[in-house]
Amino acid sequence: MNDQTKASGRHFVRPAIGSVTLCLIATLYVLLVTNRMFWTKAYGYFLAEPAAFTAFVIGISAAMMGIFTLFSAKYLTKPALIFFVLVASVSSWFNDQFGVIIDKEMIRNAAVSTGAESGHLITTRFITYVLLTGIVPSLIICWVRIVHRPILKKLAWNTAVILACSAVFVVAGTTFYKTYAGVGRAHRDLMDTLNPVIPIASAVRYTIDSQRDANVVASPLGTDAHKVGVVDNGKPRVTIIVAGETARAQDFSLGGYGKMTNPELAKRNVVYFPNTSSCGTATATSIPCLFSVYTRGEYTHRKGLETENLLDVLTHAKVDVTWLDNDTGSYDVTDRVPYTYLPPSADPRFCKDGECRDEILVDKVDGWLDKVKGDSVLVLHQLGSHGPAYYQRYPEEFRRFRPDCRSNDFSSCSQEEITNAYDNTILYTDHVVSMVIDKLKQRSGSISGAVLYFSDHGESLGENGIYLHGTPYIIAPAQQTQVPMLFWMADDLAKVGGFDMACLSKQAAQGTHSHDNIFHSVLGMMDVSTKVYDPKLDVFAACRAPSNKLAQN
Ligand SMILES: [Zn+2]
Repeated sequence: MNDQTKASGRHFVRPAIGSVTLCLIATLYVLLVTNRMFWTKAYGYFLAEPAAFTAFVIGISAAMMGIFTLFSAKYLTKPALIFFVLVASVSSWFNDQFGVIIDKEMIRNAAVSTGAESGHLITTRFITYVLLTGIVPSLIICWVRIVHRPILKKLAWNTAVILACSAVFVVAGTTFYKTYAGVGRAHRDLMDTLNPVIPIASAVRYTIDSQRDANVVASPLGTDAHKVGVVDNGKPRVTIIVAGETARAQDFSLGGYGKMTNPELAKRNVVYFPNTSSCGTATATSIPCLFSVYTRGEYTHRKGLETENLLDVLTHAKVDVTWLDNDTGSYDVTDRVPYTYLPPSADPRFCKDGECRDEILVDKVDGWLDKVKGDSVLVLHQLGSHGPAYYQRYPEEFRRFRPDCRSNDFSSCSQEEITNAYDNTILYTDHVVSMVIDKLKQRSGSISGAVLYFSDHGESLGENGIYLHGTPYIIAPAQQTQVPMLFWMADDLAKVGGFDMACLSKQAAQGTHSHDNIFHSVLGMMDVSTKVYDPKLDVFAACRAPSNKLAQN
């Protein structure tokens, strides 16, 4: 009696379960609870083929069961299943809330993002969701007692289950092979959100890549670069590149947006390029790509690391280069030039909780200009419109579009509030870039100034249920790939350098442009000649007086 009570008591506290059964329950759990986006997409893509869809569901489920069963071994089952459930829980939050896909590039973004940046994504709703869908099931897995068969029997049983699952997967796959191949080609994102398989595979691929890239040394580029010196008005040529963050072309009134988001730039005689596409949909891709010699089609992360970039070529031509960063770093672009990361200064005028408003960059311009001796390029890397905490990017006086979303949890704001907060960030960027232009104007007696502004990528604000950015380029919406780009040049520089600004305005309005143009246009603008310069990609080349044209070498 006493023994029985004990036994049943123990039984009650910790239910016993076979390890393969536990794998099956965990499989069903992640498939049903954490793959809403995956199934919704698949259902949509297979709408015309119900039989193929049914086989797809069965095949995917069998494959997942097979994978989980691989980890059915003493001391391994529980940690593996808990890991799968937690990864699936966190990933599904980002899938469902932001339409975000966790691929290798997204893992790269996460790995290089700052603490403050990631902090904005940790909301109360996020914690609650992970608690309910990740932590609680993990505790249940911890709690149950796994009954393992004797080792040989277990091996046989696991093998049988894995073989059976593989067989189901193969039969389902081959029966509807043509349909799957067709749908897969038409919808490349079909498999992108299968949790937890894709996030784990992406993290493994990212880790392998970064190990391989760890000791890459950039090979020299454009060491023949030299200034051609056709301009001599006795003043140094100073270009300030404002590298924007998360600004999308759609919300720039210079490009025709209905709300006046560019009131200050509109008064400053800038040339706006309304049709400009980005190299990537995330900072970690776009920034190294646009400073590289490669076009979007040619660029890879590895190639970017292996080759010196625009800043190095300028340095070879004895142009002074400096980079001031208020964003998330320079992604190895500044490995060989002076670089200052401003947020740690925690300047109370601009900074709070590890992040600073972009006026901290403008604040540094005068000090830098005081030291300018010869031709120079300054890069100001903005925090710009980085989300989801748009409302923290601008001060009170730029809270012009109201009501604005005052939360980093989009679900607590209306669409109008989210858009208003985002538009206020654009309004503030308009102010920041205008102030940079004014700083150069004030010194027109001693320097010849120019400003180039572009954003690294755009942003989704809920269109088709997608928020933020980083969607794989091939399926990314235009909101993420169409970016603002603009140019301002001091009158005396335009005159002496033979830049026909009317011609440039016309060309900017009519043509299509991209990040591919930046490398060559900056060299052209600075009159740096090198054999790696390609006049076809220099937006200024067609609008310069013949005597000022820069030849390829
Ligand atoms: Zn970015």
